[in-house]
Amino acid sequence: TEPESTLHIEPSSLHAASAKPNPIVSYQSIQKSFGDLHVIKGIDLDIYPGEKIALIGPSGSGKTTLGRMLMTLEEPTSGTILIDDEPLWQTELKGKRIRANEKHLRKMRSKVGMVFQHFNLFPHMSVLNNVSMAPRSVLKLTKEEAEEQAIMMLRKVGLDQKLQVYPSQLSGGQKQRVAIARALVMQPKVMVFDEVTSALDPELVGEVLFVIKEIADEGQMAMMLITHEMEFAREVADRVVFGADGLIVEQGTPEDIFTNPQSERLQAFLKRFL
Ligand code: ADP
Repeated sequence: TEPESTLHIEPSSLHAASAKPNPIVSYQSIQKSFGDLHVIKGIDLDIYPGEKIALIGPSGSGKTTLGRMLMTLEEPTSGTILIDDEPLWQTELKGKRIRANEKHLRKMRSKVGMVFQHFNLFPHMSVLNNVSMAPRSVLKLTKEEAEEQAIMMLRKVGLDQKLQVYPSQLSGGQKQRVAIARALVMQPKVMVFDEVTSALDPELVGEVLFVIKEIADEGQMAMMLITHEMEFAREVADRVVFGADGLIVEQGTPEDIFTNPQSERLQAFLKRFL
């Protein structure tokens, strides 16, 4: 039998084990309008280190806008976004909160990677240069170091045989895998995948989802997957967030959301995918 002493656990260590880490991303009371169009109407959302969130919902409900905010491509009309406990749009100067300067934004942006629906590769650069450019110019790695990192990431997405090829010679699925490698090579803490398969021919969707699933399974990076691929969301996400009309309507485990949706809104939305 076990000696009794092995059952003795310090209360403080119990507490530490149950305490959640701080979120890597925290949207706090976020609103966003484009002119008269009130797109985001008050979103609070925390994403924890390593957590995989799938963001689902009807077109026009503000999912892309939420993703773009992390990349500083859109600024909220009100509310705060924290990345790694630091506000995205503000910085401190002599103890006072001031509007962030470009240097602060660059630092914050470096924690985030984003992959878009339309790849956005540089057409005049080889695959290798597309992926190694930012490590050279932003991280100031040498050409050799940057290329070594880039090749490692291209191997991960199965394209290390295409280093000298130009984007126009690649299929849509291959282009998207290069775009993923290009984001990964910067070692972000959180990656936003914004409808990355919706511009692809159906037969090319699988290879891209496969690569994302493999990266997800590595575990350490948080992910925000904006997607209409419900099967994929179910498979990869730790938590599914359903948004509509600029608000979070319902969120939970994939099981909760897909098998036992509570709101009529979500039930109606999911029917479309049956
Ligand atoms: P989703 O990703 O859920 O489809 P979006 O975030 O792309 O939704 O868009 C939400 C709404 O905001 C849409 O009505 C869209 O037309 C509008 N919108 C997005 N970006 C802009 C912009 N830069 N200027 C004006 N309207 C925009």
